[in-house]
Amino acid sequence: MPSIGIIGSGFGALAVAITLLEDGHDDIRLWERSDSIGGVWRDNTYPGAACDVPSALYSFSFEPFTGWASRYAHQPQILTYLRRTAAKYGVTPRVRTGATVVAATFDEARSQWEVGLADGTVDRVDVLVSAVGQLSDPALPAIPGIDRFRGIAFHSARWDHSAPLSGKRIAVVGTGASAIQFIPHLADRASELLVFQRTPSYILPRPDQRYGRLYRGAFRNVPGALQRERETFWSIAEQFSRGLDDDSRAGRIIRALALTHLRLRVRDRALREALTPDYPVGCRRILFANSFYPTMTRPHVGLVTAAVGEVTETGLVADGVHHEVDAIVFATGFDAQNFLSSMRIEGTGSRLLADAWADGARAHLGMHVPGFPNFFVAYGPNTNLGGGSIVYMLEAQARHIRDVLRRMRDGGHRSVAVTREAADRFDHAVQHRLERSVWGHCESWYRHPSGRITSNWPGNTRTYADATARLAPEEFSWT
Ligand SMILES: Cc1cc2nc3c(=O)[nH]c(=O)nc-3n(C[C@H](O)[C@H](O)[C@H](O)COP(=O)(O)OP(=O)(O)OC[C@H]3O[C@@H](n4cnc5c(N)ncnc54)[C@H](O)[C@@H]3O)c2cc1C
Repeated sequence: MPSIGIIGSGFGALAVAITLLEDGHDDIRLWERSDSIGGVWRDNTYPGAACDVPSALYSFSFEPFTGWASRYAHQPQILTYLRRTAAKYGVTPRVRTGATVVAATFDEARSQWEVGLADGTVDRVDVLVSAVGQLSDPALPAIPGIDRFRGIAFHSARWDHSAPLSGKRIAVVGTGASAIQFIPHLADRASELLVFQRTPSYILPRPDQRYGRLYRGAFRNVPGALQRERETFWSIAEQFSRGLDDDSRAGRIIRALALTHLRLRVRDRALREALTPDYPVGCRRILFANSFYPTMTRPHVGLVTAAVGEVTETGLVADGVHHEVDAIVFATGFDAQNFLSSMRIEGTGSRLLADAWADGARAHLGMHVPGFPNFFVAYGPNTNLGGGSIVYMLEAQARHIRDVLRRMRDGGHRSVAVTREAADRFDHAVQHRLERSVWGHCESWYRHPSGRITSNWPGNTRTYADATARLAPEEFSWT
């Protein structure tokens, strides 16, 4: 059995580790740079942090949980679920925390990966899996003066819970998925809240609900009840992804629903106009929230639609106006385009992954890169979704990796790599489909500066699961 090294400890790393352990692999180790298991659900502790795909679907299919406190679980419960699952399946003792992988080099003679850690130690494994996520490195905008501010300032993904925010004038930069979750909570504490919005989002009502004793009892005792909840939301999400095809009927319906939601919640015409997106639905992530719009109508909450041009010692300047504040929360997203860039990964012929991906990351099925044998990427390029559960995608990837390793074992192979032809063919097909999707003609964080759309999968999750379930041996070279 090969030795396996996995970088990370979020949903992706756990999906791969558990699937391989269940398949009889035993030599598995995980490296996690942080001090504990959990990925984004360890790092994003902002008030109101919750998943925006119902928990019955945003959880492992092999580990259903009947105790979710609400349909959209909050961050502490998701983190507890992840850690409990890691312990139950024997992953926890295999995780080395405080272990930042900085380099990995493929040793062709031994068909092994030499993995370098930040503390100078080196590990060797036969198979290397990167599960570092797409949204694990917070990004701050390049605004002049950003370091000059003398008040409280932090990124929403690294929330400073010790910061005395009550009664303060607070600015929030950004109105994306995280911001709309914490803005209502911050508004309860701030004396004045200024929200700086560059681009408004389409926001749908969130069909949330607390799961009281009755619900939880039904999930526990009625056979198939939780599974039905999972399948219902899976089917809705699959339909939802059709809305991301250019000019689709589903897209027009989603748009109409979102704009009606806005009209019902925001009576003030000027505010409503400022919150109305002017781009096709789906270009940016479609959001679900019930309290964001009402919060924006509160008297001490203001919306600034001009771009922030400068940060000063005491506030922010937008459109020539200086706004004095005590605290700034940057909800400015993640460094999503520079896949795996914190590590120096060297494949055959001393080729660097960073060079192979200079004009945007690409990988066969989102996982395999030609010239990088025995190397898999979980949540890799073109496996993000505009709607739907990433956990579902990660499980499909874990099963695929298991199948590749099974074939290696059965055939007595020491290494496997995708062929360039297969990888190119796949990439052309994906890019062609993406160009005809809504993302094909709008700007978003899904697009690399080169123009390639590197984040998203251009279909629904079933198509991806099917594509990864069929292992085509001729697409790989087995040595
Ligand atoms: C606030 C937030 C909410 C989200 N909500 C949803 C949702 O509702 N539905 C959905 O489908 N998706 C959601 N996502 C997307 C989310 O990224 C995925 O669902 C999923 O959690 C990704 O898991 P992962 O294991 O691939 O990556 P991550 O959870 O990002 O884990 C990566 C891990 O790798 C570690 N790591 C990184 N680099 C190194 C290194 N060099 N060495 C060692 N360790 C390293 C990190 O510390 C981290 O623990 C959300 C993301 C965020 C940020």
